[in-house]
Amino acid sequence: MSTTTLNSRTVSPPALPLQKETTAGNYFVANYPPFAFWKREQVPDFLAALERPPLVARRSSLVPPLGLYTHIPFCRKRCHFCYFKVYTDKDSSEVRGYLDALLKELTVYAGKPVIGGRKPKFVYFGGGTPSYLSPDQLKFLTDGMKRLLPWDKVEEVTFEAEPGTLTDHKLQAIRDLGVTRLSLGIEHFDDHILEINGRAHRSKEIARAYAYAREIGFPQINIDLIAGMVEETEDKWKETVAKAVELRPDSVTIYQMEVPFNTGIYQQMKAEGKLVAPVADWETKRRWVNFAFGEFEKLGYTITSATTVVRDPAKVKFVYRDGLFSGADILSIGVASFGHLSGVHYQNHHDFQPYVDAVNAGQLPVYRAYVVPDDERYLREFILQLKLGSVSAAAFAKKFGRDPREQFAAPLSTLKDWGFLANGGDRIGVTRDGLLQIDRLLHQFFKPEHETGRYA
Ligand code: SF4
Repeated sequence: MSTTTLNSRTVSPPALPLQKETTAGNYFVANYPPFAFWKREQVPDFLAALERPPLVARRSSLVPPLGLYTHIPFCRKRCHFCYFKVYTDKDSSEVRGYLDALLKELTVYAGKPVIGGRKPKFVYFGGGTPSYLSPDQLKFLTDGMKRLLPWDKVEEVTFEAEPGTLTDHKLQAIRDLGVTRLSLGIEHFDDHILEINGRAHRSKEIARAYAYAREIGFPQINIDLIAGMVEETEDKWKETVAKAVELRPDSVTIYQMEVPFNTGIYQQMKAEGKLVAPVADWETKRRWVNFAFGEFEKLGYTITSATTVVRDPAKVKFVYRDGLFSGADILSIGVASFGHLSGVHYQNHHDFQPYVDAVNAGQLPVYRAYVVPDDERYLREFILQLKLGSVSAAAFAKKFGRDPREQFAAPLSTLKDWGFLANGGDRIGVTRDGLLQIDRLLHQFFKPEHETGRYA
């Protein structure tokens, strides 16, 4: 084992934590610092930032691009592995009230100096299930959004859809409103696996929705899969990958099943006094994702992140993800949604009624916020971009005036010691094995005060 000299101290790299069975807790690193560190006391700082023009990058004087995220919290059924804030019991008047609230919220933001005349570069509809909305509801919502912040500069509109909610008529309506990437939450093709995991759709609905979406010419169709659902087997996973390959989607996103505390699976574990989730262990899930990556690579697909393979990287872009990973402003609206404006993270109320009531009372429904200091902005972008497999040292040095090889000498040395570092010229990257477990490796870069202790 090598040692690293850091500030004249000699320290031994830590041992690689074991990661075996799937136990309860969050695994994926979605942002930095973790949400648990965002505070109610910092909401006034966020509100003050809205009253100033957009924060320009210090070295380039560039204004960051603006993206728009809209959260639709409705679903037909709650999946047993779901950890999002979703509602399965809202009637049409409550849904309409929610859409009104979204537009009221966006109206407040659209009038703030922080927008600075920017128009959205990308728009993302996430949930929940955006495709739960009817064509009329979607038109009402998006017409209102476009009136407030026009979409004529938009390069990408992403729309998450649950296959069972998609009629031909609705797919056409989604296409007509300007969606460029339809993201189908397929997760698996086996009806028993879908049922036992609480999914609302079945394989027949996948086939019908996919065929029609192709027919009407969405520029990009992405399909989501999950490796390691309850009762997954080697054979069923291989069959699912074969069916996914057959569809020749433009891109595929493959997640490894995690079991956060607010899932139905964890509730059942608790009731039964179990510590280990009834899903495959981490090594098996990594192997399954690697298998899927390999099958797509045989057809010429390219791995573009820890979770994504893409058919033609020259054509298929992820403008939202790349914006999120490189410090774009993301104006998020809706219950429990997360955003980032002028160097401040924020999250809305995570319950339906307090969210709607706050908006109807003329207030922004922000629940907690976090002012990201300069050093953490740098760290955040580095961590998130490493999820793509590699980062350019020169690009970071140019943007922030500091070379990541020096800045992160100690954690990079640890990754090297564990055999996960793949340096090549300007690129600081990880090996395939490292990429398959990148989320736990990223904790090596965290500030000690942001370490929650769970990364095994
Ligand atoms: S469809 Fe998605 S958001 Fe809705 S319950 Fe299932 S996992 Fe959660």
